Amino acid sequence: MNPADLFRAIGSAGEEKWYNFLMQTETPMRAIEQLQARLADVKAVRGAASVLGWDQQTYMPPGGAGARANQLSVLSKISHEMATGPDTERLLAEAERETKDADPDSDEASFVRVARRDYDQAAKLPTALVAELSRVTALAHEEWARARQDSDYPRFAPWLERILDLTRQVAQHLGYQDVMYDALLDLYEPGMKTREVRAMFDALRPAQVALVQAIIAKGPDLIDASPLQLDYDEATQTQFGLEVVRRLGFDFARGRQDRAVHPFCTSFSRDDVRITTRFDKNWPPMSLFGSIHETGHALYEQGVDPRYDGNTLEGGTSLGVHESQSRLWENLVGRSRPFWQCFYPSLQAAFPGALSDVPLESFYRAINRVWPSLIRVEADEVTYNLHILLRFELENDLLEGRLSVADAPQTWNAKMREYLGLTPENDAQGILQDVHWSGGSFGYFPTYTVGNLLSVQLFEKADADLGGQTADQVARGDFAPLLAWLREHVHQWGRKYDPSDLIRRVTGGPLDPAPYLRYLQRKYGEIYRM
Ligand code: ZN
Repeated sequence: MNPADLFRAIGSAGEEKWYNFLMQTETPMRAIEQLQARLADVKAVRGAASVLGWDQQTYMPPGGAGARANQLSVLSKISHEMATGPDTERLLAEAERETKDADPDSDEASFVRVARRDYDQAAKLPTALVAELSRVTALAHEEWARARQDSDYPRFAPWLERILDLTRQVAQHLGYQDVMYDALLDLYEPGMKTREVRAMFDALRPAQVALVQAIIAKGPDLIDASPLQLDYDEATQTQFGLEVVRRLGFDFARGRQDRAVHPFCTSFSRDDVRITTRFDKNWPPMSLFGSIHETGHALYEQGVDPRYDGNTLEGGTSLGVHESQSRLWENLVGRSRPFWQCFYPSLQAAFPGALSDVPLESFYRAINRVWPSLIRVEADEVTYNLHILLRFELENDLLEGRLSVADAPQTWNAKMREYLGLTPENDAQGILQDVHWSGGSFGYFPTYTVGNLLSVQLFEKADADLGGQTADQVARGDFAPLLAWLREHVHQWGRKYDPSDLIRRVTGGPLDPAPYLRYLQRKYGEIYRM
């Protein structure tokens, strides 16, 4: 037993587990238990790397970049070797024999199934490639940040070239039947295929473009968002945001919020979940909805059943399901009229200079104003998926070599014109805006749209199960019933069910664009009086 195992056994466990631990030193553990202990160690190393990654994006001075890249690369090498070593392979094979007759819905069978998928994926990648990707992306992150700041695409282009090359190698090692993108998409949304993403966008695009066009035809002045562009003191924004986050159910004894250039949520365990936000003095929706969004992710992580602590089944089952949680709280709750019936009086009291003369209804319309814009993370609900479609198409073309890195900014801008009628003035507002490619995250973007669709499917099911009372509960500031429903149906299961399986279990059907489109048409038809 190494010290880490000892600590785990006595750490949070209590006497019974301690007793079992002592007994285990005398009776040989089953292979599945040895595998769980081994993968818990892998998870611990990855958790340590996540702490370093969080620090890099929050508090690390720029000078730390070189050493940090090396630290992250070494940790990824260690965890990859542990996850794919011969011992792991042997234990996994034995655990599969031990559980072959187990109920497929049992925790043990689910653990073995997920461990097998993780192992097969990791074992296909040479450790040297994993370490190199980690090193290059840690350096590229700093280069991207500076390139974006100076709108200097040529500075980032060689890094993008290098990352694309490494990503193609990853896809080749992982293998795929149809297109390279399948191998990468599967890393973020297990089981989903590129053709399904295409079908999803084929269903969304005509209806969403038509809705955007109808809103544009109403003119930019129908909704006045100017009260949101006045002076909003940052300290007061912070205070108000933290109060909202707390009331939604974020547990500050098991998490915290800091600032970052690009808002994100990361967890080191279910008991230590970090969210970040950023501020614009003249646009409070940035920090407020950023915080609510990341809180949705955090509630998922904090809500996994404690029996999975340190286990492979801890955490979210896919990025799409994760994003369904953030979008549900951000949009279905945070941008709803009932939510502001609850919070608007205190917001007005916090910012009397800006809001005392603005009626609730004007404020509600202002935070839901639809207008084509250049920046994805600031996009409204109606245009958001078109930003994702653009990136999905561009990623595929870059990976397959149909588009060169040098030509990518022009193609980006041409697609912006085609889908949203806008041309970025510079690359900082265009191709350099997102962090994902500097981190090697190709295949990630479609999970945002999966999350949008699923957020509505889940919300409608929750509301039906809660007797159609959700709006009234939200208006009273009572978020507990909705959170409890999500805990019961989504959060507690962690990675136990594959995403498509979970979606079927909860909603009774597959991922479906129709409820999302109906929701957009209903909500914005009313706001824009169409
Ligand atoms: Zn998110």
